Amino acid sequence: MNRLLTFASMLLILSCGGPEHPVPGNERHNIILIILDTLRPDHLSCYGYHRNTSPAIDSLAANGTIWAKAQAQAPWTQPAHATIWTGLTVQSHGTKNPVFADGEDRRKLIYMLDESLPSLPFLLQNAGFATLGIVNFTILSKAYGFARGFDEYHCHPTGQGRAGISVDMAIDWLEKNRDERFFCLIHLYDIHSPYSPPPPYNTSYQDDPSMTFFDWIIEDDSILNAADRQLAIDMYDGEIRWVDDNLARLFAWLRANRLEDETLVVIMADHGEEFLEHGGVLHGETLYQEVLHVPLIMSGPGITPGLTDSTRVGQFDILPTLLAWAGVENDSDFDGVNILDDPDPRRFIPSSETSLPPWAEHRQLACVVSGDMKTMAMNDLKEFLSFDLHADPTEQEPLPADSIGMEKVLYYWATPPRAHPRFADADPTSIQALRDLGYVD
Ligand SMILES: [Zn+2]
Repeated sequence: MNRLLTFASMLLILSCGGPEHPVPGNERHNIILIILDTLRPDHLSCYGYHRNTSPAIDSLAANGTIWAKAQAQAPWTQPAHATIWTGLTVQSHGTKNPVFADGEDRRKLIYMLDESLPSLPFLLQNAGFATLGIVNFTILSKAYGFARGFDEYHCHPTGQGRAGISVDMAIDWLEKNRDERFFCLIHLYDIHSPYSPPPPYNTSYQDDPSMTFFDWIIEDDSILNAADRQLAIDMYDGEIRWVDDNLARLFAWLRANRLEDETLVVIMADHGEEFLEHGGVLHGETLYQEVLHVPLIMSGPGITPGLTDSTRVGQFDILPTLLAWAGVENDSDFDGVNILDDPDPRRFIPSSETSLPPWAEHRQLACVVSGDMKTMAMNDLKEFLSFDLHADPTEQEPLPADSIGMEKVLYYWATPPRAHPRFADADPTSIQALRDLGYVD
């Protein structure tokens, strides 16, 4: 046996000709993963939006594949990112809001990602990738377990308006690492509320130059009404255009450096945003499609150009898909699958939210989608209803609960956790940033 192994190893060495950088599996190369916080797909031109909000993303999409039905596994930032990092559902990775008794120490509000889980950056780093992470929200920081596997990791606690700086930082790093096999992750927070596109983007879709800032929550903690909805959307769209123009610089850099043909670029969001479709605003308190439907676009070698794929997929598919694309082998078990390899279009894709704040209508929510049939559990999983997302894409006409869907929701809810997250030891700056954003009392 040893002799056979030795012979095989010699053949491998001879055939590889001593590569400088180990490239396991195939010759394909780099990955850039761009996560745009709070971005709804139906506000991108390439998903049919009537405004020209996204010329750079559209151009990337024209050379790649658009997934028309990608589903977030959670309606807010941290659990959704933990799913992208780990390829697991929220119940599996367990990075979610804990349950609190009244008066309990709110500094413990957020769990951290269990760093013993194999994560996308960790697995790619182990496979020889040079790795960079740039994130723009405090709960994605090292203190919350998200930095493992990155050679360099930069987290700004409140990254509003930092799309330009973040793209500059990425290009600087890419200049230095362009001869490596690289994985570059960029999370941009600009589109998240408050909607404050820098001039001239504040007037891209509304005319008042003095309007530089829109927040749904006003001074007495009440929420603005439907009359403000269009202004909110105008400013939100301005943020998208500002982000898109900055991404254009990154894509131009890739073209100028002839890295386009050897780099996979992925664009996605962590969750969407409500604009009063079901009476609410912002995100995190419902599981309707305005917060769970997310964009997913891939462009690069091996990706079919000009294709729109209508298979229902999830954020938990990103890790297994990127590992397979990169030829990185591992024996970990993920909840998601490689979506480049004909996934089952009827599989059940779950999402959930736990321990919502006291003012929320429901404290625990879960749902599953299979094809276009969605079943949602509400009222602490005591009430169920279903929607046909093909006939009723805006979920206005609930149907009697689908029995298989109900069973799948409860099965998902009973998923034994694969990790044991602990509370993050967050510093006071991080807590204040969360408080400013309304995440902590
Ligand atoms: Zn988010």
